[in-house]
Amino acid sequence: MNKIVFDAIVVGAGPAGNSAAYTMANAGLNVLQIERGEYSGSKNVQGAILYSDALEQMIPDFREEAPLERHIVEQRIWMMDDRGHTGMHHRSDDYNEDLPNRYTIIRAQFDKWFNRQVRDAGATVLYETTVTGLLRDPRGQVIGVQTDREGEGYYANVVVLAEGVNGLVGQRSGLRSELRPEDVALAVKEMHFLPQETIESRFNITGDEGVVIEAMGTITEGMIGTAFLYTNRESISIGIGCLVSELSRVGKGSPYQLLDRFKAHPSIRGLLEGSEMKEYAAHLIPEGGYRAIPELVGDGWICVGDAGHFVNAVHREGSNLAMTTGRLAAETIITLNQRGQACTKKALGAYRQRLDDSFVMKDMKKYKDVPRMLEKQGSTIMDTYPRLMNGAAQTWFRVDGRDKKTKENEIVKAAWHVRGLGLLGDAVKLARAWR
Ligand SMILES: Cc1cc2nc3c(=O)[nH]c(=O)nc-3n(C[C@H](O)[C@H](O)[C@H](O)COP(=O)(O)OP(=O)(O)OC[C@H]3O[C@@H](n4cnc5c(N)ncnc54)[C@H](O)[C@@H]3O)c2cc1C
Repeated sequence: MNKIVFDAIVVGAGPAGNSAAYTMANAGLNVLQIERGEYSGSKNVQGAILYSDALEQMIPDFREEAPLERHIVEQRIWMMDDRGHTGMHHRSDDYNEDLPNRYTIIRAQFDKWFNRQVRDAGATVLYETTVTGLLRDPRGQVIGVQTDREGEGYYANVVVLAEGVNGLVGQRSGLRSELRPEDVALAVKEMHFLPQETIESRFNITGDEGVVIEAMGTITEGMIGTAFLYTNRESISIGIGCLVSELSRVGKGSPYQLLDRFKAHPSIRGLLEGSEMKEYAAHLIPEGGYRAIPELVGDGWICVGDAGHFVNAVHREGSNLAMTTGRLAAETIITLNQRGQACTKKALGAYRQRLDDSFVMKDMKKYKDVPRMLEKQGSTIMDTYPRLMNGAAQTWFRVDGRDKKTKENEIVKAAWHVRGLGLLGDAVKLARAWR
């Protein structure tokens, strides 16, 4: 019997794999997608915020059918100390627009929907099947994949590795090195259920409006990490994560203990009061930024999403980058397919050019020094400054008979006492990493 050779095999059905498989199948390519989970989304963990633009590029009318929770009208960024927080809130009625820009989603539902679009576009999807290795021809060109199912494997002109951050296929095949603990965070997340009207009154929202809180500070016990709280329709997603290297070096508790403390924090506990926790999940997040991006193409293979370490160090947007890189890889393959060109490393190099021309690499490069800066300055940024900011806010806002000039001096003195000339150095380092 003649073996089937697909135009492309996609390993994984997260946002990156679904985007790649959808784009190729929609263009008429013969695509096989392989997912180890029972369905797309069953193994996936995310906050989760969906960025419309990346999905709109592929499915412009996605809002008509996709399972979306709330569109975001308010963003809060909090610097927390042990007793409170100081922060920035941005809210605008402008976000109540016809085509909102960001939504909260529940990944298990959303991925399942997205994967249905992949199948409807004509791709074949195998679930509960794990890719265990790559098949190569005598010259080393990747020609397909082996799986944990019986048989000789599946063949294709190109394999798209969309297997997520801990991509063992790529690692075991020597396409990229093992993850460094400095380049990856371990995050935990819970879903807390509350009646819709309780969420709406607690967060001052109505209808489909939603609020996002991103937080950092003493909640991670001086370790490099962040926390989040997102409003869904009838639930709140809450999570926290720290670099794996910090968790083992500092050893101030597991992410689960950090999450417990975050939930009990005076700024948070009232928001969750009376809720019922129904889901708990843990997952890795790529944090190494631009310098941690591995080789992205080779003879017969191409790498997208978290497997390519695409998470920008400041704004994150992992799923946004996953969808965009999945689409750009697919477009590269479609062009080669239309020209009848083989998917060699050289030919697939056009993917790198597409990435460089897009916001993906521009943003990854812009923040390329942030991870190293955090490695060196971690506890100052995560602990010292949040304490200073909250102390300064209290000094400023308490009305206690002292004049404002005295208060200003007190704030400057406190900062000088803690950091001295280091203040200037920190400002320069931050500006350099951010430029
Ligand atoms: C707690 C948390 C919160 C987050 N919040 C946000 C957020 O709010 N917004 C945002 O944009 N990003 C967020 N992210 C990041 C985002 O989840 C990822 O960037 C995104 O999921 C990456 O998509 P992906 O398709 O590359 O990988 P994944 O979503 O990890 O998908 C990989 C898929 O491949 C499958 N797979 C793996 N190995 C194999 C194999 N050998 N064979 C077959 N299948 C395989 C897996 O089962 C999985 O379905 C968050 C991440 C975490 C952990």
